[in-house]
Amino acid sequence: MKRTATLISPEEIALQREYCTRILEMNQPLPEKPLAFVDTYGCQQNEADSERLRGYLDEMGYGFTQDENAAAVIIINTCAVREHAELRVLGNVGALTHTKRKNPNQIICLCGCMMQEAHMAEKIKQSFRHVDLVFGPHALWRFPEFLWRIHTRRGRIFETTDDPGSIAEGIPVVRQNGVKAWVSVMYGCNNFCTYCVVPFVRGRERSRAPGVILDEIRELAAAGYKEITLLGQNVNSYGKDLEENVDFAWLLERANEVEGEFLLRFMTSHPKDASQGLFETMARCEKVAPQLHLPVQAGNDRVLKAMNRGYTSAGYLDLVSRLRALIPNIVLTSDIIVGFPGETTEEFEDTLEILKRVEFDALFTFIYSPRQGTPAAKMDDPASKEEKAANFQRLIDLQNEISARKHAAYVGKTVRCLIDGTSEDPRNNLSARTAGNRLVHVSGDPSLVGSYRDVTITHANTWALFGELRSTEPMPAET
Ligand code: SAH
Ligand code: SF4
Repeated sequence: MKRTATLISPEEIALQREYCTRILEMNQPLPEKPLAFVDTYGCQQNEADSERLRGYLDEMGYGFTQDENAAAVIIINTCAVREHAELRVLGNVGALTHTKRKNPNQIICLCGCMMQEAHMAEKIKQSFRHVDLVFGPHALWRFPEFLWRIHTRRGRIFETTDDPGSIAEGIPVVRQNGVKAWVSVMYGCNNFCTYCVVPFVRGRERSRAPGVILDEIRELAAAGYKEITLLGQNVNSYGKDLEENVDFAWLLERANEVEGEFLLRFMTSHPKDASQGLFETMARCEKVAPQLHLPVQAGNDRVLKAMNRGYTSAGYLDLVSRLRALIPNIVLTSDIIVGFPGETTEEFEDTLEILKRVEFDALFTFIYSPRQGTPAAKMDDPASKEEKAANFQRLIDLQNEISARKHAAYVGKTVRCLIDGTSEDPRNNLSARTAGNRLVHVSGDPSLVGSYRDVTITHANTWALFGELRSTEPMPAET
């Protein structure tokens, strides 16, 4: 039987917006607009969540600042995927004791995945007493109510109850970028890869209704957004929990029909659910970028099984060859974990092997980080730190060589790019992206940001391409 996702009722969202109005009425008489500082760690889903928090804050009459000292409200949206990110958050939150000492009325809020871990919320309660408000991803939609309570009553708020998760529509959004936008298509994860904390902190898979997603894409396209990325922990699970008989390939095809000049990207695709139908849809839809992020994690079958990934290296290679048969110019990227508990150096050689066989355009590489409560954290982990670090370095060296070679193949070609931002480098003051999402540095007029332009690639390195804008003026007639 299909599970119907818990939709937060429109009345409940309306109540939250009423809290926004009450805070707005409190803020309006102030001589200057109070400011909020929103800091985001981790994945694009967190970026998208922060855009909703900014939407609420904007409705409450806050402006935005990058300076913690100037902020009346500080929000740190945290990530729990690896220990490294958690330590950075704790360091930065610790440093906020100074800003709060200077400004005792400052309100400090922590949210995101780290706060949904019971031991972490407890640590904040006991050891970070300057933090006023803590809430997990499940309670984000109630942020206005929490902030109102902090403003009007004494005491701290901790709202981190475990929850399978819900869907909240109708929260205002302030987007960070006028060219590229995120659209969540689903939340949560049911896969329980043995190393991963996400299913514990983000709840069960639940899909947004297709009509709501397509309306959002239509609005973004009409507002001139040039790149729309559909988000989910595993977008290939889209629709499994809905009454309608729809899947992600179907959604992508409908999104492709939306009028406008924009590219569609999506992430993340789990290899075990990546279907031939999805590849065919990608090949057929002209707005869908020739790019796929398909995390393989490891190349050894015993390790993949211990990770509970649900595919073998041969199965993965088969996916890649079928995809390349349909979309020869596909840009492929992946995630790799080095040093999963029990992975021997001999088993790690299979990861290098898969890199050589696939030749990814780029990789996101991680050393395994034990996450409390996950099955892998209880597995024997005999490999030394040094052995893992040495293997990690070999991985990086091999990928750098592959990326440099793949980038070098662009030199001399003219490719259509989206000019997506400016940069500090005076020689290359603009950044751009190929359809496959490779980074290109160019120089040109900043007014070009947000437009598609042909760029001739002049040189390349491991990390990026460098090019010259082709003239947009008509060529003079030959005499
Ligand atoms: N849902 C996405 C990714 C979520 S986390 C997917 O399945 O692809 C992003 C990446 O972080 C993962 O792909 C994995 O490579 C890495 N990761 C997750 N948990 C980790 C851990 N405990 N240690 C090291 N890397 C981890
Ligand atoms: Fe984590 Fe696996 Fe779910 Fe990705 S698919 S979020 S790696 S459990």
